[in-house]
Amino acid sequence: MIQDKKIFLFDMDGTLTPPREQVESGIVKALKRLAEHVKIGIVTGSDMDYVEQQMMRAFDIGGVPVSAVDILPCNGTKKYITTKANRFALESEANMIEEIGEEHYRSLIQFCCNAQSTIIVEHPEIPFSGTFVQYRGSLLNWCPVGRAADLGQREAFIRSDEKEDLRHRYAASMRSLIKERAIPVTVALGGSTSLDIYPNGWDKTYALRHYPGWEVYFAGDRCEKGGNDWHLYEALKDLGRSFHIKTTEETIDVIDNFISSLS
Ligand SMILES: [Mg+2]
Repeated sequence: MIQDKKIFLFDMDGTLTPPREQVESGIVKALKRLAEHVKIGIVTGSDMDYVEQQMMRAFDIGGVPVSAVDILPCNGTKKYITTKANRFALESEANMIEEIGEEHYRSLIQFCCNAQSTIIVEHPEIPFSGTFVQYRGSLLNWCPVGRAADLGQREAFIRSDEKEDLRHRYAASMRSLIKERAIPVTVALGGSTSLDIYPNGWDKTYALRHYPGWEVYFAGDRCEKGGNDWHLYEALKDLGRSFHIKTTEETIDVIDNFISSLS
């Protein structure tokens, strides 16, 4: 039986799926077991198109019932719920440009474009695909290797990033600009290849605004400080309701332990 006002939120990349890949059957089965007990939410920095690419096979016939799941893309600033036709439909969305103002928004875009040009000149070892900067309504995503990068291109970027700490360094200089111009935004590492920039407070804790009075649980793989799961992890940690996992296999263990704890 589904327990009232209880929801288990999951990050997507690295938690439910390998980064930018499709969900595997072990996770689908675990989510199906979980859906018999509580509501499920997917809270990711990605937009709905990536959730569809990576998660939709979970909702095939015989899989996780669509009605058991809310999808919360862009850190939960968008919320998709199930319609009567068993499809996901946008229920609400927030708007970053309105929140911080056009001038600040343009400064951020300018920073990303300048930094992109510098990386192109200074890092011949990094391949570049396309769509380096993407506005998603509620956050700005800067991905130096490009959102269109394939797995090999992503890996090449990750190697350079690990060696030269590129994302941390650019995040630090972006934070100086933000401070200097008093732009009310936060910069966080998004996934393995991006920086996410969003209005202060619009991290994944935004998802909690959709569930006032609910008992909320969360599992994610980037719960270290600076990671895009950190704020939500911290918000629920003292209640013992957040889980820092390292692999999708660990997510399955967390789900099964959680189900056992319910009885
Ligand atoms: Mg993740």
